Amino acid sequence: LNQLLAFCRPGFESEAGRELTDAAATKGAWGYFTPQPGTGWLRFTLAGGLDAPSLLRQVPLESLVFVRDWQVLLAEMALPAKDRVGAVVEVLSDGGVELVRTCARVDVRVGENSSDPDLGRFARKWVAPLSRALRGAGLLGAEVDSSVGDRLEILLPDFGSALIGMSLANNRARWPMGIPRLKLPASAPSRSALKLEEAWKVLLPADRALDYLGGGKTAVDLGAAPGGWTWQLVQQGMQVTAVDNGAMEEGLMATGMVTHVQADGYLWRPKRAVDWMVCDIVDKPRRTASMVSDWFTDQLCRYSIFNLKLPMKKRYDEWLLCRELLQSRLADAPFGVGLRARQLYHDREEITCFLERTD
Ligand code: SAM
Repeated sequence: LNQLLAFCRPGFESEAGRELTDAAATKGAWGYFTPQPGTGWLRFTLAGGLDAPSLLRQVPLESLVFVRDWQVLLAEMALPAKDRVGAVVEVLSDGGVELVRTCARVDVRVGENSSDPDLGRFARKWVAPLSRALRGAGLLGAEVDSSVGDRLEILLPDFGSALIGMSLANNRARWPMGIPRLKLPASAPSRSALKLEEAWKVLLPADRALDYLGGGKTAVDLGAAPGGWTWQLVQQGMQVTAVDNGAMEEGLMATGMVTHVQADGYLWRPKRAVDWMVCDIVDKPRRTASMVSDWFTDQLCRYSIFNLKLPMKKRYDEWLLCRELLQSRLADAPFGVGLRARQLYHDREEITCFLERTD
């Protein structure tokens, strides 16, 4: 097929498609995308320069913002009402076998927006018989831990069709389709707490999270009320200055770890540099990007996580403008910077960015 199947937040298929088009261009490849609006997935067809598996190998998923997960699309097939397992084995025996051999297991999923609970149940139950049959036919390698090995991925848009893909062990989302199942602790003041937790899990290097978060660091939370993000920072043992004219949750204030400052987060600055500055204020994205770059050029923080609330139109262009603004403002800084961004599962009309001073 020479296609990639990419997953994104439902409604952001065009943004993800444009991002893939640009990412391919950086590798000398070109292609086009066919969004299925509202589904949360899209196909990207390679038209020249590289084939789909090579592009998947060459572009790190972590460099993408709107694409939350991806795989090579091996086949698209109609599923018969009977012997669906046999039909999949037959299709995979015909083509794509070379690719599939490196797969250690198969997973079956439904779209993020699927409203059919029967389809979800079928997908879960189908994994065991399908795995047995594929292994029996020599189409799957030896069974290993679910986190290692390439993986055969089957997406069921409905009962009558399947998209069969393959994800790479070292270049796919930590959670299938980029959807983490995080639980909101009862003591967290707001659901936003999950967003910061996901941001840390997705944007910080997994093996070094403690270096970034532990050791009694200091933090500023701009637009902090009622305190979900501040609560996460406190959970890591940080002393937090929470800047917001709104009220902070009482239990959080009772920890003694939080100083509440009622001020405009865009204008307020700390007297001494802190380790972290986080910002969840709903405002114009370029205003936030500009404020964050000021904090870095003035060396007021080392790490920052901030949201960019994207406008309804030109969401991808707005991200490119903000990225350009951050990069150009920090280009002459006497230190290096690292920037990563992602539209997280817990993000709505926004993306979350992580900026760090690297030396
Ligand atoms: N992160 C918070 C949490 O986890 O509970 C939720 C933040 S909420 C999305 C946005 C907050 O930004 C609101 O509490 C609002 O009062 C605050 N806000 C809006 N404009 C602000 C400004 N210029 N300076 C400081 N806070 C601002």
